[in-house]
Amino acid sequence: MDFLQPTSWDEALAIKAAHPGALPIAGGTDVMVELNFDARRPDALLDLIRIPELARWSAQNGRIRLGACVTYTRLITELGGRLPGLAMAARTVGSPQIRNRGTVGGNLGAASPAGDCHPPLLAAGAEIEVASARGIRTIPAADFYTGVKQNALAPDELIAAVLIPAASGPQQFSKIGTRNAMVIAVASFCLVLDLRNAAVGTGIGSAAPTPGRRRPSASWPGPWPRPACGSPAPTCPRASQVSSASGSAPRRPPSTTCGAPPPTAAVRSRSWPGVP
Ligand SMILES: Cc1cc2nc3c(=O)[nH]c(=O)nc-3n(C[C@H](O)[C@H](O)[C@H](O)COP(=O)(O)OP(=O)(O)OC[C@H]3O[C@@H](n4cnc5c(N)ncnc54)[C@H](O)[C@@H]3O)c2cc1C
Repeated sequence: MDFLQPTSWDEALAIKAAHPGALPIAGGTDVMVELNFDARRPDALLDLIRIPELARWSAQNGRIRLGACVTYTRLITELGGRLPGLAMAARTVGSPQIRNRGTVGGNLGAASPAGDCHPPLLAAGAEIEVASARGIRTIPAADFYTGVKQNALAPDELIAAVLIPAASGPQQFSKIGTRNAMVIAVASFCLVLDLRNAAVGTGIGSAAPTPGRRRPSASWPGPWPRPACGSPAPTCPRASQVSSASGSAPRRPPSTTCGAPPPTAAVRSRSWPGVP
């Protein structure tokens, strides 16, 4: 088996064009299990971990562009405040070792119905940026999952990044499994309240051949009824994030307390006692 190790994105796309059968490998937490169990025997592996662009994230126009090889650990530590739903899901993935290696791009590449990134990406209205030597296109998360462990990538395409609106309101993720840690979801759900657009987003995992979303039964009237954080606004860094994003004056939180969603660790510890 050939092991192809490009060091630039252009080189990776050229290799994928020349060898469409080469299997991409990022953290390897899915791929290596498949190889070890002989479930797959590709002619070549295309290692993406040396490509600097894939390991970067940036904020653009209210959206986070998350490189495909950003790990769960970095997502949790660097983006927990801006992408709370996805960070909550990331905290439930595997063990610390898996979170140090595993990536959001790998979760999308695997496209398991039980993958924990999918509900938050669906609920937030994320788009997947994919590329080939032919060019770049974006695919709404809702159109990305095409079957059990199948996605909308063409054979010569790679996932470059995920484009996710930064949170403008509370987000919550829950995962039901047979235990609290190192567990594959029996069912998972993410709810996103979008204060900027007065909209509600949902994402459901492990309940059908593909992750999906459900339209809320009624539109959300807003404004968000209570400031959830409660810290004094002048000292809480989260207050400025929300007040600058919440648009018109009537929606802004009271000036004395922070209206940001509670810190994600507090939310998670209610849902997932015992998960580190
Ligand atoms: C012990 C253990 C526990 C786990 N627990 C969980 C869990 O709780 N929740 C969960 O969701 N998952 C879990 N997983 C599965 C796995 O860790 C995740 O799916 C992870 O996100 C995969 O990321 P990776 O970078 O390791 O992907 P890899 O294994 O490198 O790749 C996974 C798939 O994506 C493709 N791929 C990777 N990057 C790209 C790219 N840029 N473009 C195109 N295709 C690409 C690969 O070809 C492969 O098909 C667990 C795995 C193990 C071994």
